[in-house]
Amino acid sequence: MRSVLFFAGRWLTIAGGAIVAAGSLMPWAELPILGVSIPVSGLFGLGSVTCALGLAVSVLCYRGYRLRLLYLLIAGAVLWIAAQKTMSVKIETRSMLLSMEMQLYPINQALAQLGAPPVSVTDTSKKGSDLVGVGLWLMPIGSGLILAGCLTSLFCRPLSFRSLPFEFVGFLACRHCATLVSGEMLVCPKCGRGISDKRPCPKCFQVVEGNHRFCFRCGETMHP
Ligand SMILES: [Zn+2]
Ligand SMILES: [Zn+2]
Repeated sequence: MRSVLFFAGRWLTIAGGAIVAAGSLMPWAELPILGVSIPVSGLFGLGSVTCALGLAVSVLCYRGYRLRLLYLLIAGAVLWIAAQKTMSVKIETRSMLLSMEMQLYPINQALAQLGAPPVSVTDTSKKGSDLVGVGLWLMPIGSGLILAGCLTSLFCRPLSFRSLPFEFVGFLACRHCATLVSGEMLVCPKCGRGISDKRPCPKCFQVVEGNHRFCFRCGETMHP
């Protein structure tokens, strides 16, 4: 069960980072100009930052770094950037399109005097949310997966209220006395109590998973 949580949490975080990076390359704004929708990739702006942050989360987590606090801070930063950018696309891009139409006003006045129909470059009937590209919608999904992955992997280890703050930051801590420990330790070096589901083989002393029925090194039967 715990190894499933660890596996799931790790891959949720990796996938979240990849979605953030991919979403940064995808359109953040859709400009309706001359009847077609022109996608503008996030990479031309803050997307380069969120792309790097998303890749950093994926690569660091894939390589096994337990930097939960960093991953959560990055998820928060990506969410904040995406929220700001969504607002600015809705408001500023729309006002930019309107000002482009305003610049055509003298031309259209001249055309009207000649009896010709007015020209229009942009489609000002579009709502603000129509201008937001698919990449920006992916940002909260990616950040949410990073968050879900961090929380899932947190519960792959036995926790207590004392060890939770250390575990949350990314350290391994004894759940009895909150001493920092390392992954291969079976017993806490400070309080002497068990801190792992793993156990040594009685014959060759190879440390095996708690649910293994045979020692993978010498084949000895592991009694539960
Ligand atoms: Zn301890
Ligand atoms: Zn053995």
